Amino acid sequence: MPVKGRIVRVAGPLVVAENMSGAQMYEMVRVGEEGLVGEITRIRGDLAYIQVYESTTGLKPGEPVEGTGGPLSLELGPGLLGVIYDGIQRPLTRIAEVLASKMPERSIFVERGIKVPALDRERKWSFIPGDPSGGFKLRPGDKVSGGDVLGWVQETSLIRHLIMVPPNVHGRLSWVAGEGEYTVEDTIAEVETERGKVPIKLYQKWPARVPRPYKVKLEPTEPLITGMRVIDTLFPMAKGGTGAVPGGFGTGKTVTLHSLAQWSSARVVIYIGCGERGNEMTEVLVRFPKYKDPWTGKPLMERTVLIANTSNMPVAAREASIYVGITIAEYYRDMGYDVLLVADSTSRWAEALREIAGRLEEMPAEEGYPSYLASRLAEFYERAGRVEALGSPGRVGSATVVGAVSPPGGDFTEPVTSHTMRFIKVLWALDTKLAYSRHYPAINWLTSYSAYSDLVAEWWHKNVDPRWAEYRNEAMNILLRESELQEIVRLIGPESLDEKDKLILDVARLIKDGFLKQNAFDPVDAFTPPVKQFKLLQMIIDYYRKAMELVEAGVTVKEIREAVGRLYLDMVRAKFEVPNDRVELIDELREKVLKALESLRAGAA
Ligand code: ADP
Repeated sequence: MPVKGRIVRVAGPLVVAENMSGAQMYEMVRVGEEGLVGEITRIRGDLAYIQVYESTTGLKPGEPVEGTGGPLSLELGPGLLGVIYDGIQRPLTRIAEVLASKMPERSIFVERGIKVPALDRERKWSFIPGDPSGGFKLRPGDKVSGGDVLGWVQETSLIRHLIMVPPNVHGRLSWVAGEGEYTVEDTIAEVETERGKVPIKLYQKWPARVPRPYKVKLEPTEPLITGMRVIDTLFPMAKGGTGAVPGGFGTGKTVTLHSLAQWSSARVVIYIGCGERGNEMTEVLVRFPKYKDPWTGKPLMERTVLIANTSNMPVAAREASIYVGITIAEYYRDMGYDVLLVADSTSRWAEALREIAGRLEEMPAEEGYPSYLASRLAEFYERAGRVEALGSPGRVGSATVVGAVSPPGGDFTEPVTSHTMRFIKVLWALDTKLAYSRHYPAINWLTSYSAYSDLVAEWWHKNVDPRWAEYRNEAMNILLRESELQEIVRLIGPESLDEKDKLILDVARLIKDGFLKQNAFDPVDAFTPPVKQFKLLQMIIDYYRKAMELVEAGVTVKEIREAVGRLYLDMVRAKFEVPNDRVELIDELREKVLKALESLRAGAA
């Protein structure tokens, strides 16, 4: 029997109810006459502290609170892709009209107490039994367990949606539907379990705060290719990895995350937006539906789920949104997809946590954040991973998680940034100075890092060039050396530099201008395929090596630059002048550069 209690206190998004003994932690409850959605976050005696996901304006002590007997759960099934949800998976169906009419963001949320199902109940899907390859088909009498593929549905033109036995169901398949049109509520199979017959539908429910199980976690050895050179080559992300993009206002967090969403080699994208200022989320909501999948030209939304938290939505929904997002990511991972989840920005999420903790009158830790900020961040990032999914046929999928962080004043020692840095493996540190000088992406190569560079090296060596790590490390060393030299120049002036040092400065400039800087809005430059990334770097490093030989033989940097002439500019511009499918042109340019240097050597001799 679900509990029935009464409100004793209302404090913003927090409601305290009495007479709640028997209720569970994290149980979902209906609050007040209107039945607002809430979740129990603390129990003290017969008092339950409830965070309410809808506006509590007008809610009064004495109104009823009713348990639902279960946790806040998501609906996972066909029809997720392309939808814009709020933080507790209510579809923001009116969004298109709202945007079309340019109404203020204020009107973009679901009305209070309305019970809108997350998945469309009317829409019919063509269910095909077996797995999409046709090589696997379960029949009545077969033993089944969580993750086994019963059939599939073409969810959008880009994504085939596997209909899987839910993780906690195992038994004998008594019946499975034939090919046909079904709504998500129709039963398409039945499993005879110890607890009796369990009907299986096109969708399953799963509690948002509980990680979905998998068979084994695999090493993140495959890079998530993003097409951003500074990322893929210097600070690579791995499929199933974790990363953070901290940066002050205007340093390029949003542009970076949008580029990842559009271009990365993930098949499914979950974008969680926590709006900073009023119009920011609207911008995302306007832009995303216009993005095209670069590989097919189809709308990106065909493989995207958007979760929108606007600043005027209740903070509790914002707190829940990252769990909703990661659960959806895990669900597509379980189908064997590479999923990318991006959250912009986790600082806004942490502020929601802080506000709720404040209402609960919890003892604040650093800067008012609750002491469990770190463990919550850890729980979120730990759900990333590349895994062997449950069930048959065997599948490998991944959920990669990247969070933007907006530290006030760009100070990375503040709690959200510093705790996040403990749990992520890749840091793309955005730098105000670089952004200011229009070096985009403003990823600082001295403070950023990736713990995956050694793990993904083998992929590069096998698929691109066996010298990848060698060239990459050499480029890193030149950049590090340059920063030391810049320091010396600052202290004692440029006269102190010898020709070798000058060459380092010259080549570092070339690496920055010809390789690291990348225009997210240029049709060619926005995405650089791995082979082109390698060839660009190889060209620059080979130029460096040959030039260094010359310098050591007494040639000056000035002479080198004169000999190379216009070709230098060609090297800088190759990133966008050489089409991505004509990378052999970079080899030709490299040969010309080396030849020009060769002639200098002949001259010197
Ligand atoms: P933030 O989200 O950190 O406040 P934005 O992502 O909105 O910052 O970036 C601010 C501006 O910086 C963008 O409007 C754009 O003009 C510029 N910018 C950032 N990254 C790039 C890039 N890779 N290429 C070109 N311009 C960029």
